[in-house]
Amino acid sequence: MSWVSWRPAARDRTVSARSGSPHQRRMTRKSVPFAAALALTLAFAVSSAAQQPARRWYRGNTHAHTLNSDGDSPPDVVVRWYRQHGYHFTFITDHEYVTDVAPLNALFGAAGRFLVMTGQEVTQRISDPAHASGVREAHVNALGVTRVIRPLGERNIAPPPMAATYARNLAEIRRAGAVPQVNHPNFRWSVPLAELLDLPDSTLLEIANAHTGVNNLGGADSSGRWMPSTEALWDSLLTRGKLIFGVADDDSHSFRPEGAEDPDLTRPGRAWVMVRADTLTAEAILRSLARGDFYSSTGVALRDYRADAREIQLEIAPSGDRRFVIEFIGSGGRVLATATGQRARYQITGSEGYVRARVTDSHGRRAWMQPVMLRSR
Ligand SMILES: [Zn+2]
Ligand SMILES: [Zn+2]
Repeated sequence: MSWVSWRPAARDRTVSARSGSPHQRRMTRKSVPFAAALALTLAFAVSSAAQQPARRWYRGNTHAHTLNSDGDSPPDVVVRWYRQHGYHFTFITDHEYVTDVAPLNALFGAAGRFLVMTGQEVTQRISDPAHASGVREAHVNALGVTRVIRPLGERNIAPPPMAATYARNLAEIRRAGAVPQVNHPNFRWSVPLAELLDLPDSTLLEIANAHTGVNNLGGADSSGRWMPSTEALWDSLLTRGKLIFGVADDDSHSFRPEGAEDPDLTRPGRAWVMVRADTLTAEAILRSLARGDFYSSTGVALRDYRADAREIQLEIAPSGDRRFVIEFIGSGGRVLATATGQRARYQITGSEGYVRARVTDSHGRRAWMQPVMLRSR
């Protein structure tokens, strides 16, 4: 990650979104007046591709289960599936079990083409008599971990607050040299925003977990109490200045052929990350994940993505006759600009709080890019 100080000069700024289609929108609005002494610090979640011409995109999954926890298939079946379906890597993230990937890499690994990576899902629960089930769930993936991290408490149940267990488990994961990923906040309606406010910068957060029971879109309970979508949670954290990276992954459990027709089973291949790295090694992939050099997808692929102090540019890989809507999103989850077509450019004014891009295609599939943060000092 690179950090650059930047002082905006103009009082009135133009935000533009240019598309490759004939439809171009141009918007002008007054920027927030800046105090003379205000310096902005910009964090580039994704650095310019021009600076790293040798880097390439690797498709991978950061969340998969096998028979070593509650998956339905042994590790070799899981790994073979990802190898045969266009992935470059997958982590294996069983509950409280670290699968030895050496024999799997001996069988399936191929230099520059496919890699199996170690992981664990730390299955933390928190007692809460006010919750319908009496416990809430705070699962965290330890990506790249090589020893099991024990959750707190008997039967993995710790006393509240949940934020304290996140703090402890994330620190343990980092101490073990692994990358922490906060999983499915709406699983069993467990994690309100307040429990995420102390997450350290550069934590990964699942915004599109493809498991069929994780409530990504949020919803209201019978008394009308609303739990926001995982993407809205992400925006709430970004709005508070937290640099959090949004992840899409499978949380795959079901690989058996006879389950293929059951829509309630969590099949593989529904959500993934595209990681930009120099080379396909565990170290390089973990390094890029940790600094947010990746985007998340449920089916939209990018041909190019660049973000720097002044603008974000992206180009979408065409796919049949699909059409695309590109949105640039800022503080409060507000859509700052919208474009159609396969290319778009957003000029950063410095007053957005943060800017991130999201692409939706006419089939409902999406790609989410990591935020460019703009922080007051
Ligand atoms: Zn979980
Ligand atoms: Zn899981």
